[in-house]
Amino acid sequence: MRATFPPSGIQLRPRSFLSKRPLSRPQWEEISVMDERNTPMRTYQVCNVMEANQNNWLRTRHISREGAQRVYIEIKFTLRDCNSLPGVPGTCKETFNMYYYESNNANLWFIKESQYVKIDTIAADESFTQVDVGDRVMKLNTEVRDISNLSKKGFYLAFQDLGACIALVSVRVFYKKCPLTVLNLAQFPDTITGGDTALVEVHGMCVNASEEFEAPKMYCSADGGWLVPIGRCVCKPGFEENKDVCQPCRPGTYKASATDAYCTKCPPHSSSPQEQAEECVCEKGFHRAETDPRSMACTRPPSAPENPISTVNETCVTLEWSPPRDTGGRGDITYSLHCRKCSGDGRKCTPCGSSVHFVPRQFGLLSASVLVTDLQPDSNYSFTVESQNGVSDLSPTPRGTVVINVTTSQTVSVVLKERRSKDSVTLAWQGPERPNGAIVEYEVIYYEKREQNYTVLKTRSNMMTVDGLKPGTTYVFRVRARTDGGYGSYGGEIELETSHEGKEVKNKHFADIWYVRLVFVWFLIHLRTCFSRHCGYIKAKQDPDEEKMQFQHGRVKLPGSRTYIHPHTYEDPNQAVRDFAKEIDASNIRIERVIGAGEFGEVCSGRLRVQGKREIYVAIKSLKAGYSDKQRRDFLSEASIMGQFDHPNIIRLEGVVTRCKPVMIITEFMENGSLDTFLKKHDGQFTVIQLVGMLRGIASGMKYLSDMSYVHRDLAARNILVNSNLVCKVSDFGLSRVLEDDPEAAYTTRGGKIPIRWTAPEAIAYRKFTSASDVWSYGIVMWEVISYGERPYWEMSNQDVIKAIDEGYRLPAPMDCPVVLHQLMLDCWEKGRSDRPKFGQIVTILDKLIRNPASLRELANSSDPSTPEFSVNTVDEWLEAIKMGQYKENFSSAGYVSLDSVLYISVSELSKMGVTLAGHQKKILSSAQGLQTQGTHVQV
Ligand code: AMP
Repeated sequence: MRATFPPSGIQLRPRSFLSKRPLSRPQWEEISVMDERNTPMRTYQVCNVMEANQNNWLRTRHISREGAQRVYIEIKFTLRDCNSLPGVPGTCKETFNMYYYESNNANLWFIKESQYVKIDTIAADESFTQVDVGDRVMKLNTEVRDISNLSKKGFYLAFQDLGACIALVSVRVFYKKCPLTVLNLAQFPDTITGGDTALVEVHGMCVNASEEFEAPKMYCSADGGWLVPIGRCVCKPGFEENKDVCQPCRPGTYKASATDAYCTKCPPHSSSPQEQAEECVCEKGFHRAETDPRSMACTRPPSAPENPISTVNETCVTLEWSPPRDTGGRGDITYSLHCRKCSGDGRKCTPCGSSVHFVPRQFGLLSASVLVTDLQPDSNYSFTVESQNGVSDLSPTPRGTVVINVTTSQTVSVVLKERRSKDSVTLAWQGPERPNGAIVEYEVIYYEKREQNYTVLKTRSNMMTVDGLKPGTTYVFRVRARTDGGYGSYGGEIELETSHEGKEVKNKHFADIWYVRLVFVWFLIHLRTCFSRHCGYIKAKQDPDEEKMQFQHGRVKLPGSRTYIHPHTYEDPNQAVRDFAKEIDASNIRIERVIGAGEFGEVCSGRLRVQGKREIYVAIKSLKAGYSDKQRRDFLSEASIMGQFDHPNIIRLEGVVTRCKPVMIITEFMENGSLDTFLKKHDGQFTVIQLVGMLRGIASGMKYLSDMSYVHRDLAARNILVNSNLVCKVSDFGLSRVLEDDPEAAYTTRGGKIPIRWTAPEAIAYRKFTSASDVWSYGIVMWEVISYGERPYWEMSNQDVIKAIDEGYRLPAPMDCPVVLHQLMLDCWEKGRSDRPKFGQIVTILDKLIRNPASLRELANSSDPSTPEFSVNTVDEWLEAIKMGQYKENFSSAGYVSLDSVLYISVSELSKMGVTLAGHQKKILSSAQGLQTQGTHVQV
């Protein structure tokens, strides 16, 4: 920027300082001429070229420097070439000199020649130009010189002619300044440049509605430019930057912090009706916790927990429930329990007090289950489970609760009339008077008095003969009942000694009479039951003889433990069906709809009416018409296997229809169908604890099967069924299933058909199927569950899978898989089958993980160095980093503009904003969770 002064031009005063001779003509003359556009202009001219010893001075008036230390002088002039003037002597000059004199006095009339300081000798720059004006064009020379380090009020300029022919057309004196400017919201004033080389440091002032973030300053350079901006101002909360000013946030938007660049749309469930909002106000019913970032959606308390279940075990009860359907938009749900002990009629309840204990704790539970211990037997309890989250305390509405009423079991009432022989003991007992549900079975536990090893036997009857005992040995017996609600407490210990070798039953006459009476009563009761059941149901071992029969058919195991009996050990397979499956009258079955296709025919859902019980939902597999005898046998073999099992994680057989056509197998109905399809449908929707809960159930069912020496051979997610409470049950027990039924099964080189991807290498190589090979398959099921139904080894061919496994390759951890779970998978895939964990150990490991969810926090792929990690600062950057950039628009128009705001985003919010693909939802949710734990580092 240049400033010219004085504005009206310079008054030049011609003077002669050397006037020894009388002047024949003025030395510098003020003459009017026309410029090239024929505009009249004034010039000062001197042209005494014909005479020697010229010294003609022309001086300005006092020029104020106005604070500038350096000023510039631009002169326009013409100078005649001495050669162009005919007959001029050698004294003719073609230059002139320019001087200045600094002074505070603006009215000096006389300045001595010696007082001036020379600025420069000025010569014409190119060719000498003609001064004539008439018909010739006048061209000007322009020269600029500067003087610096001025310090007085002003100065005088002077031009010295030593014998040239000059016309001085204009003299412009100016200084430079850095113009007023606004940069980074700081205003920098007009600043006059410094002296020789100095930069002038200038501090900026924050513009309206802004504040200093870092002290703003810049340097004004000698040539009038601003240099090196440092620091900045930022708009105050409620204002945003727009072209160097801060303007208020519009209604519906807000800016919480001065350091946020722009006003952003109010997060979901909040609004800002006025301009200039620093935060948005939550809608009615929604709240913001103190620690919630302002950019987070307003949230509300969760709804009540759902689907409560209780399982009593003596004086303990496990309470489980499903998380609330409405999380209130938050991820910090916890549960608290309140316990009350109630009178028999349930009318009067009092708080339980401190004698009852909760594991892991009573308040602030993170997972949806708790173990309550130290209850009193034969008592009623009412537990209220309350769900809460970070805004529950801010909400006046009552907390969402669900009540679970529990009755602890009575002990089995004092037994016992007994009968003893040298190698057996017969016990009889009375069940609890008021059991906490229908009695499912009794458990008899006994051990040799001096030994630690004990044996557990089960029966549905009120009596049992335990045989295979040592003569003359004392045994200790205890009995407890199991109802649908769980286990009751053991009755007292009974010590009995078997008779000595050679001696026959020698108990008191009294005992014999009792025994005879009990057997008679028992016989009457069971005769009645049998008739009322059309004598069809002999699945359960209802008398001691049936227990014995098991040992005859079963493989050798510890005396008394139950072993699975292979239907092929029966000469007549129909007998196996009769032994293990209850015949159902077809008229009690109502078929409703087809739900799947099995190997032998359709699978339907429907209802079964059982006398004296409410109607239950069942699955009905039927044998299609035109079957061969072998097909019928194979079809029913599944029922005779399934009928031997009784475990909450094994699909329960209700019975069979064999007396009329079609032949049917009736099982409990599993609302959510097979696990692989179920997981694919709910991709990414479960917490890791829920997934571990499912795996725990499967492992527990498999432990039961392996304890019974049953090897499944086709354990896979497609053969697990899921009910409405997310309970997983092992299914698919048909004899021919591995060979024929499973679409995954492929022929091996040895001829058998095997589901390669799920099967242990030794079973593929030489058909060594054991519980340890089932453990291998279980590891694959774990992988399927954590990856939500992904196909193991993806599209690799079966041959490639076999080769890769042999070379030591194992499936990598699925996305978001906790390290501990992947480690457990790898343990299941140990090459040596004895190195693999047993199902019992797997259950224990999973139980520990469920009790301590923090152990699941470390993810297997979070520290994988092959996974690139990005640092992101904005929602757009984050979405780009996780390759979900296509949703930038969706996020910004839904108001998710800061990273804070996406931390607790939910599936339903994603769906609402148009992110509907399950895989994309899952990717976004898991990365958002990662942001919670890892800050602004994102893994892709
Ligand atoms: P399966 O012949 O046992 O493999 O059954 C074929 C299909 O029928 C399964 O994949 C399930 O989708 C369905 N299914 C079988 N049993 C049940 C059941 N108990 N409850 C619900 N669905 C079932």
